[in-house]
Amino acid sequence: MYFKLYGLWFSINPKLYSIVNKVIYGKCQTDRLGKYTLDRQGKNTIYTPPLARLIEQLQLLPGVGPKTAQRLAMHLIKRPEKDVHALAQALIDAKKQVGLCKVCFHLSAEPVCSICRNQNRDRTTICIVADSRDVIALEKTREYRGLYHVLGGTISPMDGIGPEQLHISSLVQRVTKEQVKEVILAISPSVEGETTTLYIGQLLKPFTKVTRIAFGLPMGGDLEYADEVTLARALSGRRELD
Ligand SMILES: [Zn+2]
Repeated sequence: MYFKLYGLWFSINPKLYSIVNKVIYGKCQTDRLGKYTLDRQGKNTIYTPPLARLIEQLQLLPGVGPKTAQRLAMHLIKRPEKDVHALAQALIDAKKQVGLCKVCFHLSAEPVCSICRNQNRDRTTICIVADSRDVIALEKTREYRGLYHVLGGTISPMDGIGPEQLHISSLVQRVTKEQVKEVILAISPSVEGETTTLYIGQLLKPFTKVTRIAFGLPMGGDLEYADEVTLARALSGRRELD
């Protein structure tokens, strides 16, 4: 990668170039587009205030940068009013109605989720995951027929998340009180994920067989981003935790 400065050509490592570019351009982009948001007086010079507020709200969503927020906002205000109402209503309804299953802590509009209620599932196996998104990823593989337990995160002392902040005591209760023959630890491989896996493994080993899914999954990779075949293979290749 070459670039011209003061009439001279310089060479630069492409990786470094992309990092430098990201830092400089990424910052400029925020400065250029990020400041259409309201100023101190609640006024805005580029967008009319309700539009600025909408853009600001959209920008709070994960993976939505200033440009996407602007595009979405522009798209939304062009939609017929009934469509926008339907979207707003869906947001409010989902927020109001969706809670956590009181058995496994998966997202559910019912007190007990459909997986826990399903009598055809293998009630002797519990798969432990960090997040509800992982349940959905594993369900998509159609390989797993047991139950789940959603921890609600991973142990991360740096972020102040210890075992008490996660749904771990309820898990121990489930394992000790019900006829659980195997628990499968399916937590994304990262430092926090590894800590959590080892902690829960030690905790449950006196009561039941503890396995963990095999990792064809990359370190630091999220369970939900693994393709279905990789995930199914990781599940069937699980091994006992030592
Ligand atoms: Zn449930």
